[in-house]
Amino acid sequence: MKKLVLASNNAKKMKELNALLAPLGFEVIPQGALGIPEAEEPHCTFVENALAKARHAARLSGLPALADDSGLCVTALGGAPGVYSARYAGEPKSDARNNEKLLAELGENCNRAAHFVSLIVLVRHADDPQPLIAEGEWHGQILPAQRGEGGFGYDPMFYLPEFDKTAAELDAETKNGISHRGQAMQQLIARLPAL
Ligand code: IMP
Repeated sequence: MKKLVLASNNAKKMKELNALLAPLGFEVIPQGALGIPEAEEPHCTFVENALAKARHAARLSGLPALADDSGLCVTALGGAPGVYSARYAGEPKSDARNNEKLLAELGENCNRAAHFVSLIVLVRHADDPQPLIAEGEWHGQILPAQRGEGGFGYDPMFYLPEFDKTAAELDAETKNGISHRGQAMQQLIARLPAL
């Protein structure tokens, strides 16, 4: 088994990534299990934040590390909440308050287009000059109310016309197969033999 540290403490996100990586022979170790605290995410792009998180986990663990930086970009809000998705409604992080704030900001705007972005970075070691970088996008619409119990974050408001369901109404396997993170992971997996 090849060890890989996951630079995330988001249990649901970790479950999604683990489901994709475990069958490939990776022992995925959450950074929290090694006592590694969350990295700062000071940058204004997903790729810079993902790299900062991956390098931080690799530096403190001495192992290859994988990080995902992701978020929701709403067209009518100029791409907000974007890299600030996790803390859109401030500290402490709260999916419920983030969702309420997003609904309030969008109001009755009839442009409901939005997409999730996932930027996944894998570094072989902390100073890796050539990280593996993969990006996925998942397009949908923001509903005026929440639907469904699955997933996490903004899933209950993220409506997929082709399924007539929100992301929170999809089963985990379906979501993983088509989501921004699923797409980015498939790209990354295709390049893993180069590790
Ligand atoms: P990160 O942990 O800094 O990458 O923050 C990602 C944030 O974006 C999460 O806390 C969610 O608010 C949002 N997000 C990312 N991916 C998803 C998803 O698959 N469903 C719902 N919300 C997501």
